[in-house]
Amino acid sequence: MSVVARAPDPARAPLTCLKGVGPRLAEKLKTLGLETVQDLLFHLPSRYQDRTRLTPLGSLRPGQEALVAGRVELSDVVYRGRRALVCRIADGTGHLHLRFFHFNAAQQEQLARGRWVRCFGAVRFGPAGFEMAHPEYSILPADAAPQPENHLTPVYPSTAGVSQTSLRRLAQEALNRHLIHVTELLPDNVRDELRLPNLKDALELVHRPPPGADVAALMSGSAPVQQRLSFEELLAYTLSLRRVRERLRAERAPRFAGNDGLIKQLLARLPFALTRAQRRVLEEINRDLARPEPMQRLVQGDVGSGKTIVAACAALRAIEAGYQVAFMAPTELLAEQHCRNLTEWLAPLGVSVAALSARVTGRARTQTLLDIAAGQTAIAVGTHALFQEGVKFARLGLIVVDEQHRFGVQQRLRLRTKGEHSDEAPHQLIMSATPIPRTLAQSVYADLDVSVIDELPAGRQPIETVAVPATRRADVVARVHEACASGRQAYWVCPLIEESEALDLETATRTAEMLTEALPDLTVMLVHGRHKPKEKERVMAEFKRGKVNLLVATTVIEVGVDVPNASLMIIENAERLGLSQLHQLRGRVGRGSISSSCVLLYQPPLSEIARERLAVLRSTNDGFEIARRDLEMRGPGELLGTRQTGVAAFHIADIARDRGLLPRVQQAAAQLLSDYPERVEPIIRRWMARREEYGAV
Ligand code: ADP
Ligand code: MG
Repeated sequence: MSVVARAPDPARAPLTCLKGVGPRLAEKLKTLGLETVQDLLFHLPSRYQDRTRLTPLGSLRPGQEALVAGRVELSDVVYRGRRALVCRIADGTGHLHLRFFHFNAAQQEQLARGRWVRCFGAVRFGPAGFEMAHPEYSILPADAAPQPENHLTPVYPSTAGVSQTSLRRLAQEALNRHLIHVTELLPDNVRDELRLPNLKDALELVHRPPPGADVAALMSGSAPVQQRLSFEELLAYTLSLRRVRERLRAERAPRFAGNDGLIKQLLARLPFALTRAQRRVLEEINRDLARPEPMQRLVQGDVGSGKTIVAACAALRAIEAGYQVAFMAPTELLAEQHCRNLTEWLAPLGVSVAALSARVTGRARTQTLLDIAAGQTAIAVGTHALFQEGVKFARLGLIVVDEQHRFGVQQRLRLRTKGEHSDEAPHQLIMSATPIPRTLAQSVYADLDVSVIDELPAGRQPIETVAVPATRRADVVARVHEACASGRQAYWVCPLIEESEALDLETATRTAEMLTEALPDLTVMLVHGRHKPKEKERVMAEFKRGKVNLLVATTVIEVGVDVPNASLMIIENAERLGLSQLHQLRGRVGRGSISSSCVLLYQPPLSEIARERLAVLRSTNDGFEIARRDLEMRGPGELLGTRQTGVAAFHIADIARDRGLLPRVQQAAAQLLSDYPERVEPIIRRWMARREEYGAV
């Protein structure tokens, strides 16, 4: 047909050019981010169903998705709580129940006794043995052998109102008519070196794996065609971040060079000297700040490595040059702590620090905002959320963002606009306590330069870590008593794990009551997320002053709280937490020179993965090592704060699984930028257009 010959560029052809796509369906597809034929071709299966083999009913396992066939032995409408059509099928090896809650007379007729049916569904336990609820089924003609499919069945990410059947049909049509017009954008040498298939073959195979395709490889995402697509997706992601970086680089920033009078004063007053690693990172920052383009630097450093003082020094450089600093923390509690520290360090130097807190309201708030806008305030400290509401600065020169793993690219970009009054862009310094391996950092943070504080201040004692089953809680309570009796302080953390915040709160409250009762001679206090900030701050201040022996807390103390005398940490339900979260929590102790310990209380029996996690924590205190193990064990999702960074939104790539590709992705990105600049935009568009935060920049 001539339509085929003149088929437009798939990147521009609207989906309505496909058969059966009218305005209604197009609208629904749009909610999936699908607008063009190209979008559909790159809407890849999130998994496959294996309908290529028929599973005998006698060997079904619960949880399994299986294709089965059998003769209907019984077909009844039952009323067990809910009206349902239940059929029993048998194939000579065993039997299976099919359960339908929604059915009509025609279906009842189709599934009558004696019929042959073929079904696909998930197997589960039912009241009378294994069953499938609402399986997909078809009636087989009498005596016909049930035909398994000869290729894997793709399952696409979908949404209400768009069935898998119609997505499959549309994908087929798009492949049939438009695949030939999709352009290859990877340079030949990259494909040759990595022996990656060409794009058309890859798309064809991934949407309709042919009979005989390596089912296991496809199911795990490691088939060469998938690697090829993952490679291109990671490349697109890297290129889009590089582009963010270049856009930022093109802006003008104030140069802070030479002025280190205030820094010298600060360092002279500190009770400690900076570590070598802190000095090195500070130099890297200073070099950036002296340049006319905005710094985009991420400082990674383990918990307790002393990132705050480094940020304070950077701030002083901006302030000495007559600029202001925005200092952002992920929680109110942390913002308050930063504010206290910065005030203690900087107020004696005549630097004005203001807290921009949700708690400051009314006239006081108006005044704070006015002072910032008038340039009276040198450093404004607050939560990310507060700054996003829009604070006007007279001369914003530097933004410090603490704990970047909770903070996405999108927010990062939005912050740039805060220095609206001038045409100068502020420098940005981002601090993260969740280190990730270098090759990963270069990809995930391709828009940033990365510095690493790879040394802890001298004299820190390693934290001794033990895992104890909850059945031995009494021993742990005794241990807390002993530690507190000898003048130390302790945390007892009841992390947020329940579905409902109310339940978590109840757990923490009950634990606090239990401990108060068991330890009558100690002062026990509770702090949790529902407390008013003022209340939280009061409790924390009491704890810091040593008035409280034992602090029971939900995860509000997860990041950044700094009380050097606290040397014992108990973590409840440790088996439910991730490695990096446990490491962060544990990092609340071991901050002073006394030796510290951490007790991981768990509910036995431990799963294999939980056992492994607890073993890693017992064996090392090194955050980099822990991050590496974490990545191996479960991928970077949680580690990077997936939702915020958008990493989870990859169509096909999986950074943990595909991390072997990353060094080559970096090289390919560099090659494209220098040798094929005209391909950069199309690659980004193809993969990232539906993720506005990257695509739109
Ligand atoms: P993090 O990197 O986890 O944010 P902080 O900045 O909170 O760590 O620092 C932890 C503690 O170590 C603070 O009490 C801080 O004052 C102290 N500290 C920072 N640098 C040094 C150093 N070079 N020597 C000794 N103590 C330091
Ligand atoms: Mg910190």
